[in-house]
Amino acid sequence: MMKRGYFLFKAGEDCGGAVVATSVKEAKRFAWANKEEWCDPYCEYTDVRVRWVRDSKVDNLPIGYVSDLMAALKAGIYGYVIEAECPECKDQDTVVYNENGFMGCSNCVKKGEL
Ligand SMILES: [Zn+2]
Repeated sequence: MMKRGYFLFKAGEDCGGAVVATSVKEAKRFAWANKEEWCDPYCEYTDVRVRWVRDSKVDNLPIGYVSDLMAALKAGIYGYVIEAECPECKDQDTVVYNENGFMGCSNCVKKGEL
């Protein structure tokens, strides 16, 4: 069975979560079971969407909901995490993980590229 990274979101909204699963069906089950972690209380089952993130690397993550935002970022399920603590400067900012394996806010990423 192939583990895959899925991005969870509510139809029409940007907010989301991350899950590791072997199928869309399984991903949707985890999404629903953990909806209070990533969605609002009024979320309906039919609002739950999952999208397979083809280039995510989830070999090191167990199957299930990924509550560690940074782990999901590192695995490539998230492209960025907002209001996170930058591991470099400790500021609260949008943090990215780039193709060079560098994790940080936009300022630190820029510094890292100089
Ligand atoms: Zn920073």
